Amino acid sequence: MIAISLQSGSNGNCIFIEADGVKLLFDAGITGAQAEERLAAYDRNIREVDAVIISHDHGDHIRHAGVFQRKFSLPLFMTPSTLAAASSRCSLGKLQDVHHFRSTDKLRFGNVIVYAIRTPHDGVDGSVFVIEAGKKRLGVLTDLGHVFQDLIHIVSSLDAVFLESNYDPAMLAAGPYPMYLKQRIKGPHGHLSNQEAAELLCRAAASRRLQWACLAHLSEQNNHPDIALKTHREVITGNMPIYIADRYRATEILTVL
Ligand SMILES: [Zn+2]
Ligand SMILES: [Zn+2]
Repeated sequence: MIAISLQSGSNGNCIFIEADGVKLLFDAGITGAQAEERLAAYDRNIREVDAVIISHDHGDHIRHAGVFQRKFSLPLFMTPSTLAAASSRCSLGKLQDVHHFRSTDKLRFGNVIVYAIRTPHDGVDGSVFVIEAGKKRLGVLTDLGHVFQDLIHIVSSLDAVFLESNYDPAMLAAGPYPMYLKQRIKGPHGHLSNQEAAELLCRAAASRRLQWACLAHLSEQNNHPDIALKTHREVITGNMPIYIADRYRATEILTVL
């Protein structure tokens, strides 16, 4: 199984995952042209993607879903509530090929299984995903709300993970955001801090199963890749590779062995 984050953050999210001949995109928060171009740089044709799976109704995850569907004829997968909420807000345009799932469902694409897991994030019906191919399991875990019960068991069961590491608490506190937004981000329906993500990874690494982690959905104003990495390195013992999903470009190809 391989994965490429094409972009990650409040300016747009999209992750490509390929396993056993199945090609999936998670979220459609970047333009069709950006997704096409960044996949082409790795010799992948976006038109060969089997499904675009949407995590929740926030614009940075769903904004360009309509274009993905119409321009590249890709089937979209999202929950009915996510579609309803996003349609009223994001002008997705006319959608033809929408498949519904519930945020607790198991989706199957060939030999690849995608488990949806409901989150307490403040989307109307948000989920995160575990992608399973053979015995390998990869998590796409962003916009989590808080470290909810079961999250540690989920991360401990993974071979690799994209994990939200959204903000540095000191930068958030000192930063320019209005108070209500600061409260939302660090509240129970917002995002995970570097420290929370690092502690989660540290505990999960005890299972000795995690091969790598890719820190995702870093805030531009309230975080910095160097600060996130430093926090994680201080908390996580051992030398598990830690990557950063960039806000403006694709990562390298990350392989789950
Ligand atoms: Zn988001
Ligand atoms: Zn969100």
